Amino acid sequence: MEQFELLWQYQQVDMELDRYEKEMRGSANRRELLKHRDFLLEQQGVLKKIETDVEIMGDRMEALADEIKRLNGSVAEAAANFEANRPQDIEEAKKQIAAIQKLIATISRYEAELAKMRKDSEARDRQQREVRVRAAKARAEFDRIKLLYDEEYKAASVKLEELKAKVAKASDGISQELLEKYKTIKRHSAPPVTRLHEDRCGGCNMQLSAAEKDKVRSGVAYVECENCGRLIMIK
Ligand SMILES: [Zn+2]
Repeated sequence: MEQFELLWQYQQVDMELDRYEKEMRGSANRRELLKHRDFLLEQQGVLKKIETDVEIMGDRMEALADEIKRLNGSVAEAAANFEANRPQDIEEAKKQIAAIQKLIATISRYEAELAKMRKDSEARDRQQREVRVRAAKARAEFDRIKLLYDEEYKAASVKLEELKAKVAKASDGISQELLEKYKTIKRHSAPPVTRLHEDRCGGCNMQLSAAEKDKVRSGVAYVECENCGRLIMIK
């Protein structure tokens, strides 16, 4: 059989294989599975972010508690000093009392900040639990679909292997050079082999150039489309 007849038949099974692979990729179970996988990854990201936030907040709360403790010590010390060494005049007394009040105001501010952070931290804990529950549900659903998809894939793989074997067999008798050419064209134009329709490329519908038309008249087996690069078989 002519090389190009063989290549044409090869293309039929090769395209059948491509269609089947595409069908497998488009399987509803596979799409569902990928959707759940993406959701799980997203939840993992959310959890990681919460954990980082909680860690930073924990450090900050610890620092605040230490600072409050230290300031309370300063207040006690200043009050004791005030008692032990009563100021000589009213100005000095006012100065010392103002210093103590300033310390107490700072403590109040820190305590308010600490209380707010505790609340935020509790909210993060709740959020973390919610995300974990959601992720666990998604995980269960993922596992359920995975079982279905694995079965489906096993069955589909049998047919896929059959088609691959058919394609390999169909390549018998076609020169390596022509097969390589076919595969190169397929990267940008599929199917790579087409027929001549009137004087147009059956792939992209572009009219042949005068030079190509001359070649056709001279009786060549094929020409290459100057527009899409396909092999155009001449019957
Ligand atoms: Zn073309």
